[in-house]
Amino acid sequence: MLMKLIVKKFGGSSVANAERVANVARIITDSYKAGNNVVVVVSAQGDTTDDLIAKAKEINPHASKREMDVLLSSGEQISMSLLAMAIEKMGYPVVSLTGWQAGFVTDSAHGIARIRRVETERIAAELARKNIVIVAGFQGINRYDDITTLGRGGSDTSAVAIAASLKADLCQIYTDVDGVYTADPRLVKNAVKLDEITFDEMLELASLGAQVLNNRSVEMAKKYNVEMEVLSSMEDKPGTIVKEVVKMEKMLVRGAARDNNVARISLVALPDRPGIAFRIFSLLASKKINVDIILQSIGRDGTKDISFTVAEDNGEEAVAVLREHLESLGGKDVLCDTNISKISVVGSGMQSNPGVAAKMFEALSDANINIQMISTSEIKISVLIDKADSERALNVVHDAFIPTAK
Ligand code: ASP
Ligand code: MG
Repeated sequence: MLMKLIVKKFGGSSVANAERVANVARIITDSYKAGNNVVVVVSAQGDTTDDLIAKAKEINPHASKREMDVLLSSGEQISMSLLAMAIEKMGYPVVSLTGWQAGFVTDSAHGIARIRRVETERIAAELARKNIVIVAGFQGINRYDDITTLGRGGSDTSAVAIAASLKADLCQIYTDVDGVYTADPRLVKNAVKLDEITFDEMLELASLGAQVLNNRSVEMAKKYNVEMEVLSSMEDKPGTIVKEVVKMEKMLVRGAARDNNVARISLVALPDRPGIAFRIFSLLASKKINVDIILQSIGRDGTKDISFTVAEDNGEEAVAVLREHLESLGGKDVLCDTNISKISVVGSGMQSNPGVAAKMFEALSDANINIQMISTSEIKISVLIDKADSERALNVVHDAFIPTAK
């Protein structure tokens, strides 16, 4: 039998208490017993990271990012050792390694560090000794030998980085849901679990707020072509495979999502001449504010309006900087509306199939929901609507495309 190398990542809820740690130890040893090389990446137990952040705030709300990383990395060090102890108790050879012991070299952006490379000698040596290797996720070391962390939810990225560096056969991300759904099942009763989804679709859905996988981890998996599986640590059944190309099927749309974290900013009666859009979006870029949908009206009587959306938390800052420059821009007013929601459908199939937009708009029209703004990419269509309609809109749009399991 050909021996496989499998990377398994367990999220915080999967190792939240002693019973769950024992459950995870069983999943790992079952795979080892079956003849696989197993490398495990683990997150901090339950709410540990949040609790550590709260502890730090009590002592110093302005603690340096360096010291925050020293503190937060301890959460993963607890779970990796506990998990190793559970595996020891079952009689299997195991070793736990911190991020730096495991060779994670990152840049120096404390709190949001990027992995530069994984020096895999130590992991490889432990595997050669037939050890199960447990690695602390979310952390690494920079070139000054300081501890860094990768940003919230960063353990997914740790797992993909190890899988890429070791050329693993599979990277399994165990979590408290059993896979990726066509929509958030808490909002959409007809949502169904997907067998497969492409990296690009997953990236779109992840950035629209589907919280199953960390965005950076999917980016990295795409870059290095690491096949991922999202599955439950509580139930023994196949999850959702994330990969470059999935089998052709009838599904035009892979999923639908709602984003309530949106503010629409409108600049009214701007002069209709070259350079205006350039100035507006340079101002926003200088404040590091990301702009999503942009709409410019047709010029009339020498003036035009420009509207765009930003994340709701950036709304105030965007308005402030534009108000400050309103006079020199020559506009009349800056308006901000946060009572809106973005509904999107995502699917690689729409690239080669016309009519997806029409079908989406028809579903919304039948439900008497007004569309305020529209944006499209190759594999995504988004509309802005009234926030009050958002749950209904998500459901009608979802049901228009996704055949229900019934
Ligand atoms: N423990 C870290 C967090 O809660 C990293 C992770 O869970 O992936 O963000
Ligand atoms: Mg966590």
